[in-house]
Amino acid sequence: MTEHDWGSERYVSDQFKRYYTSGASKVEAPPQIQQREFGFLSFGGRTMFRHIGFGDTQEIRGYLMDYNPAHAYFSAAYYKDPRAAMENKGWLGADLVFDIDADHFDLPCQKEHDRWTCRTCGKEGMGHPLELCPSCGKASFEEENWLCERCLEAAKYEAQKLIDILVQDFGFSQSQELSVNFSGNRGYHVHVRSPAVKELNQMTRREVVDYMLGIGIEAEHQGFTARPVGGGSTITEDGWRMRSAKALYDFLANTTPETLRSLKLRAPTIEKLLGSRDDILGMLMERHPSGIFKYMNRKLLDQLIAAAVKEQAAAIDTVVTTDLRRLIRLPNTLHGKTGWLAQRVPIDNLADYDPLTEAIAYKDGTEKIRIRRTPEIALAGETYGPFEDEVVELPMAVAMFVLCRKAGRVER
Ligand SMILES: [Zn+2]
Ligand SMILES: [Zn+2]
Repeated sequence: MTEHDWGSERYVSDQFKRYYTSGASKVEAPPQIQQREFGFLSFGGRTMFRHIGFGDTQEIRGYLMDYNPAHAYFSAAYYKDPRAAMENKGWLGADLVFDIDADHFDLPCQKEHDRWTCRTCGKEGMGHPLELCPSCGKASFEEENWLCERCLEAAKYEAQKLIDILVQDFGFSQSQELSVNFSGNRGYHVHVRSPAVKELNQMTRREVVDYMLGIGIEAEHQGFTARPVGGGSTITEDGWRMRSAKALYDFLANTTPETLRSLKLRAPTIEKLLGSRDDILGMLMERHPSGIFKYMNRKLLDQLIAAAVKEQAAAIDTVVTTDLRRLIRLPNTLHGKTGWLAQRVPIDNLADYDPLTEAIAYKDGTEKIRIRRTPEIALAGETYGPFEDEVVELPMAVAMFVLCRKAGRVER
């Protein structure tokens, strides 16, 4: 059989079926399965099947084996009747869920592996597309987005910061109330399951999000008072009082003239700031932050704090956390855009977790595919490509990845 469609959906769908024959047994039910709504996206039709309920783990596994969906989700919410239409489900509460997706970050590696093509005039560029095509001014682009170990590391770093805030500032138990999943693509999902969050409404969740993002943090209210106060450093306190001092410390310790120029600071200001850097760092570590005004004025401090807090905050997607009816990817199922597994990561192992090895579903065999175009691909400790308009025999995991991103097709 010859397939002409980039992505060879039929083939990928069959491979998903093959995986689930044995792999479905690794799928675990989320807590309180009978109150959860499930949703699935099929191959081909792109139809979303929602409002599905399961009685137990066996039923989920059976569904995956029978229908081998491209994407599998479950609700963060608990419902009286998950199978009912949305307005009749009877919302009982929802886990607090955070989504971290490297696609929303601005990373240098994206300029190496992501590409956009203007649908109107055909102009191409690397990285995220601009708002409007620089050549014809239209705003419709085809995007070829890839991911690499650097994007995934960046996403993991954000997840670690988020977990740190949830444990230190909110007091959630890391072992009892938090769980973290690799999304199967470019990010991580962090779930908080606790009676303390279950019934929070949208507004309150929005406030939690603002806290995570460091929105509305004013230096003046975090110890950087104009009137000098005696006493010790706030780095040993908690909440944003600690975080804003620590943020400023980390920012100044690592900053470069280039970073400071990007904040539109003038050359003499930059020179003076870098000249007194060691004194400022010592002051932040040992004394009350009101001592900062010996080195700078309020305006400069506010600028630096704003930049510093951005780095200290956790880069979460606002919409996901505030949506009370959100569907989230089900762990240990395949992701249709990578052929990798979404998977639960024990938080103690997160620092060493490498999705490019551990989330691989297809471990045996090879497949010959015609490739349209890919950047270099690193998977399971090896690198492949870049490829352009060629037929290559690749390990199954790499071939599936290329097919799932619609950058190749099976050549028979
Ligand atoms: Zn154009
Ligand atoms: Zn990358």
